[in-house]
Amino acid sequence: MATVAFVGAGPGSADLITLRGARWLAQADVVLADALTDPGLRALAPQAQWVDVGKRGFARSTAQEVIHALLLHHAARVGCVVRLKGGDPSVFGRLEEELAVAQAAGHATVVVPGVTAALAAAADAQRPLTRRGRGRSVALTTAMTREGALQAQRHAATEVLYMAGKQLGALARQLRAAGWADDTPVAVVSRAGWPDAIHTQHTVATLAQASVLHSGRPTVVIVGTGALPPHDNTSLTPTQVSSTDSSERTSATGAH
Ligand code: SAH
Repeated sequence: MATVAFVGAGPGSADLITLRGARWLAQADVVLADALTDPGLRALAPQAQWVDVGKRGFARSTAQEVIHALLLHHAARVGCVVRLKGGDPSVFGRLEEELAVAQAAGHATVVVPGVTAALAAAADAQRPLTRRGRGRSVALTTAMTREGALQAQRHAATEVLYMAGKQLGALARQLRAAGWADDTPVAVVSRAGWPDAIHTQHTVATLAQASVLHSGRPTVVIVGTGALPPHDNTSLTPTQVSSTDSSERTSATGAH
């Protein structure tokens, strides 16, 4: 039986993997890697056979089954398989399915955390996701339903939306429908963690303008208190954020 280590690669750039993740790579016989990860990560496992399991070009459901089959195929013949995943393996990474497949076949499993895109984005934009006394909760949310429809919600003082980069105009409408006021601050960050990361500041009303700037790049959208610039002390209370009375709204636009 093999050990299968699910390792978070971080948001892309090789220097954001953890030391523990790098150690697992150094002892891997086989690495099954997502397409998005930095080729520089290969230098951490020159001894291993690298298999690209990026889903591009496959139908989505088939792709996941192919990954399961590859995982079992390699685990049956070597001692250590690293399944390298973008960001953190536990965040929108279908980890539950891959863990179940490996464990059902009798393999030992290990999960090594990574820097998820939301945290790399907060760092690049210098937007702390929690704020003392006024931003007490953060939700990591996928904007995509299982059926591929766009959906926004309001779970927390700060909502970080994954997988919405291609549809920012539609996302703005969904955010409004979910109760976020037009002047709620929104920070958009693409290629977080890379030297060419871009972050821009908007409101719900102006979010559509971000589409062109971030086009074709992996993007997260930070909505609410955590999108305010650090020097802005505005309190976005739940009532203000959802208010339909514009006189009650906060004046924060979060513009630079
Ligand atoms: N497990 C990953 C998320 C996978 S879902 C993690 O923890 O980060 C893929 C989504 O993550 C993309 O659609 C995008 O919204 C986001 N993403 C991944 N890498 C990113 C990056 N470098 N910058 C901004 N967003 C990123």
